[in-house]
Amino acid sequence: MHDVIVIGAGGGGPVVAKELAAKGLDVLLLEAGPRHDKPREQWTSFENDASNPLTGFFRLGPTDRSRPAWFREWSQNSFVWQLSGVGGTTQHFYGNYPRAYPGVFNDYREADAGQYDRAHRFPFGYSEMVPYFEWVEATTPVMTAAMGHKEQTFFRGCETMNLPVQTTKTTHGPSYRPQENAILQPGGNAGRTTDSNLLHYPDATGCTFCGYCFQGCMRPIGAPRNQFAKRSTDNTYVPMALTVDAWARGGKPITLLTDAYVTQVHAENRNGALRATGVTWRENASGAEHREDAKVVVMAGGCTENPRLWLNSGLPDPNGWVGRGYTDHFFDWVIGAFDEPVGNPKGVGSAARLDFPPYGGLENVGLPPALHGFAMTLSESGIRGQYANGRGMTGPWDGPAGRIMGPELKDLIANRIENILSVLVITDDDVEPDNRVTLSSLPADENGPIPKVHFRPRQRTARTLRNREFMAGKAAELLRGAGAKEVYRIDWAPLILHVQSSMRMGESEKDSVLDANGQSRAVRGLFIADNSALANGLGGPNPTLTTQSLATRTAEKIFEEHFGGDPWVRSEAPVVSTDPRVSVRLGELGL
Ligand SMILES: Cc1cc2nc3c(=O)[nH]c(=O)nc-3n(C[C@H](O)[C@H](O)[C@H](O)COP(=O)(O)OP(=O)(O)OC[C@H]3O[C@@H](n4cnc5c(N)ncnc54)[C@H](O)[C@@H]3O)c2cc1C
Repeated sequence: MHDVIVIGAGGGGPVVAKELAAKGLDVLLLEAGPRHDKPREQWTSFENDASNPLTGFFRLGPTDRSRPAWFREWSQNSFVWQLSGVGGTTQHFYGNYPRAYPGVFNDYREADAGQYDRAHRFPFGYSEMVPYFEWVEATTPVMTAAMGHKEQTFFRGCETMNLPVQTTKTTHGPSYRPQENAILQPGGNAGRTTDSNLLHYPDATGCTFCGYCFQGCMRPIGAPRNQFAKRSTDNTYVPMALTVDAWARGGKPITLLTDAYVTQVHAENRNGALRATGVTWRENASGAEHREDAKVVVMAGGCTENPRLWLNSGLPDPNGWVGRGYTDHFFDWVIGAFDEPVGNPKGVGSAARLDFPPYGGLENVGLPPALHGFAMTLSESGIRGQYANGRGMTGPWDGPAGRIMGPELKDLIANRIENILSVLVITDDDVEPDNRVTLSSLPADENGPIPKVHFRPRQRTARTLRNREFMAGKAAELLRGAGAKEVYRIDWAPLILHVQSSMRMGESEKDSVLDANGQSRAVRGLFIADNSALANGLGGPNPTLTTQSLATRTAEKIFEEHFGGDPWVRSEAPVVSTDPRVSVRLGELGL
């Protein structure tokens, strides 16, 4: 019998695991996908080898790449980037760690309060979240981004828009700034040379400006795992959770099992209330099933798999909100082509941003060529200049929106990749009950009925659509201000990579799965601690900092309610994940 079982080692799960292990609890962390504990032997920087969603070492599937990826049903034009394995989707991520906008919490009283998704606020105040933001910002750690040429170009555009520079971590209004990100700043030779002989740890520390954030961070060469530049959870919370006895008094290292797919969460009626009791998980390779019991179960399988697991487990869904309210920041992609190089694929992937609460935000995103080719062709609007699927979106960009094809695409990718500045449009996206996960009627896989994700790209709320058009226009304005000669808008189909709130916490028991502590309203001792627990789309800021802060708060609530402990975030100093004690113990463990 464990104290706590955590399902999923992605963005959220390892946070709860590490925090409760530091308090001496017995924690079992079960991860469906692989564990890459020797990335320099297991990974390459080749785009297809890394990121092919069916066969890449980063995909949603088991360790054995000769076996198929796990299938989901997408009932519309859309694309998903969700990964299995230790680190989950943070293995791909860019490490941008802005705080959620204050306007999405229930203590917000400013004049524009009514312009947010007020029906789906967080059930507590922004001021309550601040210590948890600070704790995660110190732990990962979060720093002001190292920048380069592409950020200089982005800021040149921002300067023409009559907005202030933001200098606080809390976003108070429309403004622009360097990202606050979870990527270690370059030290020593890092960022000063491309000679890989000089970029070995400890001569180089932090980000070496390689430009391969998407393919997983394994640099500087020779660094201990907890010193790799990008702070995906396989480099931060998981190493901390495995070495907790070295840095926390009374801490007990977690047990981590990988290729361990949880297929059932068990609950029993005890004293008139339903209570979580444990899980059944399945070995990917052999199919052998195992039962594990615990006092508390924490689901952190991500926004698509949590609803699936819940429904497959036959757990109650009294108000029908399991799987509903899947928000995705309804992204768009606006590209500027310049006469001169602007450093697109180099350095920290995305180090500058512009915030425009309550509409959303913009950030520059550098991508390697194949991914850039993909990003220019995922459109809801057909082929630019040929047909528009009835959308015909015109605006301050050149020509109608749509995918770029033929000689134009070839020229941009082959000849001008260095001359492109790409802007990601991040929309404040309302919680919509009909954007949701259900069980598919397609054949089940080895882990049970598969999830089906419903998105209604043309049936978003009027506010979401307005926000997206407004921010796409701002992106074009920024690029023209920076000197772009051509500006293209792609009108992306739903690209699911910031995904939130499919098992949301909320103020009302009529439209939420979780209470204000992150605990299921229907099953005691069952918590959710990943993006799916978020009450809403946060106003547009990238979600992982808020998810991890909420997961830290949830860990405290678990410790208080189920183990009689005291909360600690307000009384203790966090240990930074780069702590040398973590590095030394990882070495002793051969990790
Ligand atoms: C290209 C890209 C760039 C991004 N950049 C940023 C960024 O800059 N900033 C930011 O904040 N966010 C970013 N994100 C989003 C970020 O990756 C997510 O917010 C974060 O990973 C979500 O964490 P999660 O725990 O909800 O889900 P995940 O990270 O997807 O983790 C879920 C884990 O649970 C496991 N799992 C699922 N079901 C089961 C089961 N039944 N049994 C056992 N294990 C299970 C999965 O295998 C997976 O490892 C980016 C994403 C992408 C794709």
